[in-house]
Formats: sequence, structure tokens, C-alpha cells
Amino acid sequence: MSIMYKSTRGMQGEFPASVAIIKGLADDGGLFVPERIPKLSIELSALRGMSYQETAYHIMKEFLTDYTEEELKSCIEKAYDNKFDTPEIAPLVKRGDQYFLELFHGATIAFKDMALSILPHLLTTAMKKNKIDKEIVILTATSGDTGKAALAGFADVPGTRIIVFYPKGGVSKIQELQMVTQKGKNTRVIGVHGNFDDCQTGVKNIFSDRELREEIGENGYQFSSANSINIGRLVPQIAYYAYAYGSMLRMEEIKEGDLLDVVVPTGNFGNILAAYYAKQMGIPIGKLVCASNENKVLFDFFKTGSYDKNREFILTSSPSMDILISSNLERLIYLLCNQDATRNAAFMKSLSETGSYEITAEMKEKLSDFYGAYATEQEVFSTIHEIYDRTGYVIDTHTAVAAFADQVYKKDENTSNKSIIVSTASPFKFTRNVMKAVAPSYTDTDDFKMVDELGRLAGVKVPAAIEEIRNAQVLHEQVCDAKSMRYAVKESLGM
Ligand SMILES: *Cc1c(COP(=O)(O)O)cnc(C)c1O
Repeated sequence: MSIMYKSTRGMQGEFPASVAIIKGLADDGGLFVPERIPKLSIELSALRGMSYQETAYHIMKEFLTDYTEEELKSCIEKAYDNKFDTPEIAPLVKRGDQYFLELFHGATIAFKDMALSILPHLLTTAMKKNKIDKEIVILTATSGDTGKAALAGFADVPGTRIIVFYPKGGVSKIQELQMVTQKGKNTRVIGVHGNFDDCQTGVKNIFSDRELREEIGENGYQFSSANSINIGRLVPQIAYYAYAYGSMLRMEEIKEGDLLDVVVPTGNFGNILAAYYAKQMGIPIGKLVCASNENKVLFDFFKTGSYDKNREFILTSSPSMDILISSNLERLIYLLCNQDATRNAAFMKSLSETGSYEITAEMKEKLSDFYGAYATEQEVFSTIHEIYDRTGYVIDTHTAVAAFADQVYKKDENTSNKSIIVSTASPFKFTRNVMKAVAPSYTDTDDFKMVDELGRLAGVKVPAAIEEIRNAQVLHEQVCDAKSMRYAVKESLGM
């Protein structure tokens, strides 16, 4: 059965998946959502024996119904290949008494690769299907990991250009180096004087600027997005929850039908929303534990039903989660108000005008699938240290937020469900803070010496993604104010 997509804010019209992927954001500033969430059409037991690619196909075909089987399989094959350093793509490992779903085996060693290695293929296929001859300009705001993953995915892809905005000073040294050394004629990386929310708001404003859209259209360009507001990013992410369930079956850690809890280090709410969609599809997921760092706006929301971003923005050791406006929460709010776009639009208007909104008691009741927890900086460091001490396994700062939340949740709720911790980045991406936690007495401050030492301590080979940037040349040095992002875009397009 075919699935069409519509805006969360009530704009008229329904669009096939390929059009929603090209547009990225709806013209009224809303997010594209499927008219309904399809059910899994295979037996749960089948997941046990499936490869990552097969699993991805069975999930994605339910959502991207205007892609042919051949198109979809071709996209999947090109995405999940030896760019990943393991044929498993998303291995599930047991360390101590905890399970970790490692999503950092792709080209840029963060979970963003799971979706961004396939998005360029979904997009170029969509352009062909819809006979679009304009050059697609991918505009991306990044808190650190999306930027590099999108650059790697789109570099030198014909018919596309990519412009990435990142908060100058708000990302890790390694994250910044990964981005500013990016090759490819169609790539542009720009630092912004501001934080991630400034970057994201700037990009959203550019998208909803009709005049600018028309002007660039006349020059042969069309905007699209590689951020998790693009439905083409969300759908591929559902696959690894199905795959994780299959892995737990294969490892005989659960039986078919057993509920599996998932603990997700959360920023923009994309990853955990994919888990929610997986649950709606019929994969037996129990609680969705939403793990926040000290920017705990989501923790407060789950507790009180009030979303309030009017607070200090804290720069933490898990920068990819330093976010106060979690864009994808809008898709959940929309479901909570029974797909009533008018009501959702009113909440979002309140958010942009006052920085807050409060959901009704009836909506709050439907949040019982979620459990909110957060970790302080101190708790992040002690969790990394403790897990390393006990098991020899080194996790990154974002994963540590989730590993801590997992413990809080288990202490608080008496459950017999097993849980998986979603590991979103390689520790090598956040070496400085990880080393601080693992070996507090270590004193050398050269980032790459630390990388080598971490490899030795963890007993792990330094990933190729890090070796690549050791001596790479800086190719992007542009910096701008949040206010002038619009001009930077026009300038980079030669307008
Ligand atoms: C992006 C990111 C997150 C947050 O994921 P969301 O989908 O934005 O909630 C967590 N950890 C890492 C390492 C990330 O790159």
C-alpha cells in the first residue's frame, strides 16, 4: 500500500516519499510525516537471519513506496558497503551486563553515517524519478557529526552542492578538523559565531524564505536538507532498531516477542523518534529511554509536559547533544495531538515566539512509552571510567550519557526487559574528553598523540577516519555571523 507524506503544520497537499525527500522541509516550515505508520510485513522470526541490508530493505520499502524494489535495493547496496569497517554494519556487543548497539562503524565514525551514507542515493534517485534538472543545494546545520557525514556522502555527487554551517568553537577539535579538511569541488564549510540552535534556526529561516527560494530557482538551484528534519534520514534509521532486535534473537539474549528497551543519547530527537516509529511498526520495543546531557530540556519536558528552551545553553563534553530546540520532537507532538496539524502549528508558533509551550494532560498521558533521564558532566566522566575499569571497553561521551541513563532507569523502574544502549560515536572522535575520563593522569595534550594512546589503552586500531585527518590540509576557513548565513549561501552559489 502506498504511503504519502504531509506537513505537520497543515499545508495542503500530499507528496510521495521521493518529493518529500527532495524538498526536505515543507513550504510552511513544517516537517514531512507519513500519513500513517506502516506495519512490518515480515515475521519477527525472520529478522534473526537477516543481514543489515536485507533488514533495511524490509523496513524502508514500507515507507518509501514510490521507489521500485530495484531502486531501493541499489541505494542500499551502494550505501552499506565497505565504507563500513565491519560487514555487520551495526554490530550489537555485550560488555559486562550491558548491550551496546554500535552505530559508529561508517566513514565518519558517528551514527549519522547510518542515514547519510544512503541519503545521497535516495536523493539522486528521487531527482531522476521526478525529472528535476535543477542543481540540488544541500543546506546543513551541524552540531558536529552531521556535517562531516553529509559532506562525505555528498562530496562530488553530480547534480548536488553542499553547504555546512557549524558552531565555531562548539564542536570537538577532531570534529572540526574532519569538516574543514573536506575535499570535493561541490563542498563548502562555514563556521558560525553562535551555537547549534543559531545554525539550525538560520538554516530553517533560509528554507522558509519564499523570495530567496524563487531567486535561487531562477539561477537553476533548489534547496534540500541533510538534517534529520528530512524524512529520508529518519526512515533509514528505523532499520537498525529492527536489526538490533534480530541480533538479540540471534544471540539468544531474548525470545521472539520479548520487549526490548532502548536507551538513546538524544539531541535533535531523530534517533529516538526512529525507535518510536520502529515500535509503531510492530517491533517489540518496550520503553524508549531518552538520555540527555546537561542541556536537559527533553528530560524536563517528559517530566512536566512543558517544553521550555528559555535557559542557558551549556557547552558539554557531548557537543552533538548540545541542543535546546529538538526539531524532531515536532513529529511526536503531531502524533500526540492525533495528527491535528492546526494544534501542532499552534504549539510550534508558541515555541518560536515565546520559546516554550505546554501540552495537554491528555497528550501527556500518551508519553508513557518514554522515560527521560540525564547525566551531568561528572556522571559522564565517571561512567566512561567505570565501564573501562570493569570491562576494558571504552565508550565515547555521548554513549556514556546513555549508559548512565540506562542505570538510572533500571534503578528507578523495576523491569525484566533487557535494554540496549545506542552507541552513537567512536571514542576516537572525542579523544580529549575520553582520555580525561579513562586516564586522568595522562598529560600530553597533542590530540593525535592522545589518539595513539587511546588506541593502546582500548586495544583498538585507530580508525581510518582519524588517520585521514592527521596530516590533511585545511581547505575551509570561512566564518560568518548567524545573521549573515543567507548572504553566505548566495555568495557561495555565485549570486
Ligand atoms: C547527532 C548525535 C546525537 C543526537 O542524535 P539525535 O538524532 O539528534 O537525537 C547523539 N550522539 C552523537 C554522537 C551524535 O552525532
